[in-house]
Formats: sequence, C-alpha cells, structure tokens
Amino acid sequence: MKIIMLGAPGAGKGTQAKMIADKYHIPHISTGDIFRANLKAGTELGMKAKEYMDQGLLVPDALTCDLVMDRIGQDDCKDGFVLDGFPRTIPQAEALDAALSNINQKMDYAIDVDVPDENIVNRMSGRRACLNCGATYHIVSIPTKVEGVCDRCGNPVVLRDDDQPETVQKRLAVYHEQTQPLIDYYKGQGILNTVSGTQPMEDVFQAIVEILGA
Ligand code: AMP
Repeated sequence: MKIIMLGAPGAGKGTQAKMIADKYHIPHISTGDIFRANLKAGTELGMKAKEYMDQGLLVPDALTCDLVMDRIGQDDCKDGFVLDGFPRTIPQAEALDAALSNINQKMDYAIDVDVPDENIVNRMSGRRACLNCGATYHIVSIPTKVEGVCDRCGNPVVLRDDDQPETVQKRLAVYHEQTQPLIDYYKGQGILNTVSGTQPMEDVFQAIVEILGA
C-alpha cells in the first residue's frame, strides 16, 4: 500500500502518517524529518536545507527528489510506504510517478487532510517538538506528561524555528502556491481522498482507515 499524505503544514498529516505506518506496518517517510536529522548530524544536505526551511521556503526539488527515490528503493519499502511532506510540488510528483513507473508501480492513495488556514495558525503556535528524537506534541491536544519535557526521551520540547508565526504565514503561502495544485493532480489520477482535519485526531484516523480498508 503506497500512500501520500497531503495537507497544509500543521494539518496533522504527520501524526496521521505515523498512525497509518503503525497500523499497516509500512515505513513512515517524512522529508521534513530527514532534513532535520541531517541538520542535527551536521551534513552538507542538512546545512543547505536549513537555509530554506528557516525562511519557510521549500528545499529545491533537486535536493529533495533523489533522497526520496533512494529511500523508497530500500528493502523495507517493498510492501508500501506512507509519504509525509513529499511530494510538495508538481515536478516532485512527476519525478515520483516516473521513478515508480520504471518499476511498473504507481501510488495507490493520496489523502488530503483538509484544515482551513485560520485553524492552522492557531494550531502551529501550540505545536512543540523534541529536537532530539523528533517527537511532536501540542500544548492543548497532545501535551507532554511533564510540561516542556519529551515523553519519549526526556529532552526539552520547543517551538520549532519554522513554526514561529511569521514563518507559518510564509509556509501557508508557499503551500497554496506550490503544493495545493497536487490535489487536482491526484484527483486527475483518480486516487485522491479528502478527510476533514478539524475533527479530533482519532476521528480523522478512523476516516482514513475507512478509505484504506481495515
Ligand atoms: P515538514 O516537517 O514536512 O513541515 O517540513 C519542514 C520543512 O522542510 C518545509 O517547510 C520545507 O522547508 C522542507 N521540506 C520538507 N519536505 C519538503 C519537500 N518535499 N520539498 C521541499 N522542501 C521540503
């Protein structure tokens, strides 16, 4: 089962992608996580990506596509995967389709987690992330057990630089301009499904499971 999660930054697609990966035993591939891991490890890719991420801009397709194609070619992706944060542009979607068609495969589902812009800005200001292990929380909907401390690894949780309000506005503008056209792209392929992301997290997941089958 090969799944793409679509949706604005902060729509909750990362949380849903992790739940899908757990339930269906497929890898969760988040390009944002890959860039952040590279940044933490001080790689050249991480340094380059940071320049764009900190401004709320997309990392260039050339840097992004190769790393995703490498990742989906690995053994654990044989039975499928869930892509979170990729593709984010039409050229990325076309590169993905071309890579899969070379091996006679195609994506099965694109799931758009739909949340209006006004909800996004509020949500993102409450988001907290652990820069050590990548776990994400929300001060209201998914709080840490101890305030400010990651449940998983005990390190501090923080408001990520790219979740600061000005950067969020920029990321939303970039989303509408460059990523939203993917909704029509996948509608055209007949694989688009939309779920309302304003419901509680468990209900969003239930709606997704109904699409994917138990
Ligand atoms: P995310 O955690 O998915 O919100 O991604 C954080 C940031 O990483 C984005 O704002 C972009 O700067 C960068 N990024 C993640 N995925 C992509 C992608 N597919 N294409 C370009 N930039 C990306």
